[in-house]
Amino acid sequence: MTSEKWLGNPYFPISQHYKQLFGEKVYKIPVTTVDDCPNRRGLKGMETCIFCDVWGSAARAESMDMDLKEQIIKYKDHIGKRFKAKKFLVYFQAYTNTFEKASILEKQFEVAAEFEDVVGFVVGTRPDCLSPKVMEIWQKYHEKRFVSVELGVQTFNDKDLEWMKRGHTAEQSLKAIERIHKNTDVDLGIHLMFGQPNDTKASIIESAKISNDLPISNIKLHNLHVLKNTPLEKIYNEGNFIPIERAEYAECVELFLSHLRPDIAVHRLSALASRWDELVAPAWAKQKMESHQFIINHMKELDSFQGKFH
Ligand code: SF4
Repeated sequence: MTSEKWLGNPYFPISQHYKQLFGEKVYKIPVTTVDDCPNRRGLKGMETCIFCDVWGSAARAESMDMDLKEQIIKYKDHIGKRFKAKKFLVYFQAYTNTFEKASILEKQFEVAAEFEDVVGFVVGTRPDCLSPKVMEIWQKYHEKRFVSVELGVQTFNDKDLEWMKRGHTAEQSLKAIERIHKNTDVDLGIHLMFGQPNDTKASIIESAKISNDLPISNIKLHNLHVLKNTPLEKIYNEGNFIPIERAEYAECVELFLSHLRPDIAVHRLSALASRWDELVAPAWAKQKMESHQFIINHMKELDSFQGKFH
């Protein structure tokens, strides 16, 4: 039913959102410019999020030893050759990208903006790391280039946020979204994670309904998985956490998307463990394309699509 509208997908893919914005396909270049976050620093008694490994979501370990300009040149060249890419978004992905002096953050934007084919920036951060100055910088650059902010909300359930040691509440996430929306015009997205202890069908549907009322344009979905040398590995080894199976995860995604506003663009449907040797469980988190196809097939079998029940 939605095939034509979303190029064969039962959901609105982020690639199409970007294509609508830029007139052609754009490619994200994940960069690492910080190596810290409030949790790792132990601010206010916070602890590392239980699922987070030493890389703090950095896509490439070698990026840690390169400055921003080197990273952009290297990966732009690589992606450009591989996909004949012409336009890029620099994705400040690893750790907490606003946990740094505002002047340094602005300098990073300046460096990235020197590249003409970099059409914008995507910044990953936490709900409790938003100073007025940071938002001012986002707005300033959004007036010249595209700026998108991805907020790690993870869940709207406080019990699970506490269990994951996120160090913020669901209300803080909602307030952060409200503040960004009030103070800037940036493109805003959130990350959510399924497979948590208190997830139920009702809570997944509720998450979609909460998301529908937010001023966001995109959502990234993750499946909670266990990586080596994380607090979650210990919890898993002690038998106190069972990772979500692929079939169950596909049910969560279908349930969520079918209740989600159809104009919210969706990034990948599940998380991929990019360092395979660090994945403890579940094994399916290694299989990017298979898992994606599994979820799509599940949705098609049910004749389901994003917004079906919205
Ligand atoms: S998930 Fe983000 S906030 Fe949590 S410990 Fe990792 S880098 Fe820090």
